[in-house]
Amino acid sequence: MKHLYFTPGPTELYFTVHEHLKNALKEDILSLSHRSDKFKVIYADTVASLRELLGLPEDWHIIFASSATEIWERAVQNLVEKNSFHFVSGAFSGKFAACAKRMGKNVVIEEAPFGQVPNPREAIIPLDSEFISFTHNETSSGACQPLEDFAWVRKNNPNALIAVDGISSLPVITLDYEQIDTAYFTVQKCFGLPAGLSVWLVNNRCLAKAEMLEKKGIVTGSYYSLAQRVELSQQNQTPETPNVLAIYLLGKVAKDMLMKGIDQIQRETNYKAAVMYHLLENTPGISPFIQNPEHRSKTTIVASCEKSTQIIEALKSKKLILGAGFGKYKEHHLRIANFPTHSKEQFEMLADKLSEQLDSDQ
Ligand SMILES: *Cc1c(COP(=O)(O)O)cnc(C)c1O
Repeated sequence: MKHLYFTPGPTELYFTVHEHLKNALKEDILSLSHRSDKFKVIYADTVASLRELLGLPEDWHIIFASSATEIWERAVQNLVEKNSFHFVSGAFSGKFAACAKRMGKNVVIEEAPFGQVPNPREAIIPLDSEFISFTHNETSSGACQPLEDFAWVRKNNPNALIAVDGISSLPVITLDYEQIDTAYFTVQKCFGLPAGLSVWLVNNRCLAKAEMLEKKGIVTGSYYSLAQRVELSQQNQTPETPNVLAIYLLGKVAKDMLMKGIDQIQRETNYKAAVMYHLLENTPGISPFIQNPEHRSKTTIVASCEKSTQIIEALKSKKLILGAGFGKYKEHHLRIANFPTHSKEQFEMLADKLSEQLDSDQ
């Protein structure tokens, strides 16, 4: 039996990926020219399926990059002239703020203690902020920013572009695209695909901002200017040679998820999260790391426990791979991905084995 990965990215492959990979080889996808008509059809198909799955409005644009880390830099390059504001709830949101700082922007941060999310109602957001960044799901801590916060900040900062890192929650969450201007994710989290492709969603306000910066003579990227990207995307093209296989696989998995239905995926996510949090709240020796139940992530469940390394090793011998804590919490936390690829049965089995292990440690 192979191992089953509950790690928060890369994770267990979506269960249809093996079949799609075989077909990709059969169809010569790995040798396909990115200027061919066949590629354009694949590109258009992937974008159309994603648009439907995400419920993305027609006037939003979908473009690709290689990782979320890359999108941070591209977003700063294309959407910020001087002032960037960041809600920070852990390592990933902190890294984005650091990226904007390294790129020479004035960065203002509202940071919550690790394990909590910042409260926008208590934040002082400078009036000249051009860009306000949220991380919906802080994968390092398992803290989840309530979706209502985006609308609240939008209402009070109508001139700023609102950005949402939806990396470890899209497509499982339903975003209100009226309340934000851009969102992004990578495929090795909720889509259960190999790493190497990320997806950037932008509206026309973002495009107008990038064009304005270009008119001012600001470099928005040589091969990655947002304006050029969007223009090429309308011809189902990219400036560089893209990861054709990844775009192909993403389209296939997006279609599989559409067949299943996003409602069903959300219901199963809620069920699996309830199973795991119930275990964490009712088992001696382990507890949910996020204290406020309203801020607990459903897709990245983080548990506090002593000697998490031993638990990880014990479950590994049963072919179940859990994530370690992030950074200095490596030996004190477990991070458990609850992504669409993980079935209810697999999650119940994980809960049983984890429970047995904790009992035997008592
Ligand atoms: C995984 C992750 C990232 C980094 O994604 P890459 O594809 O490795 O660049 C950034 N932010 C969050 C919240 C993540 O979970």
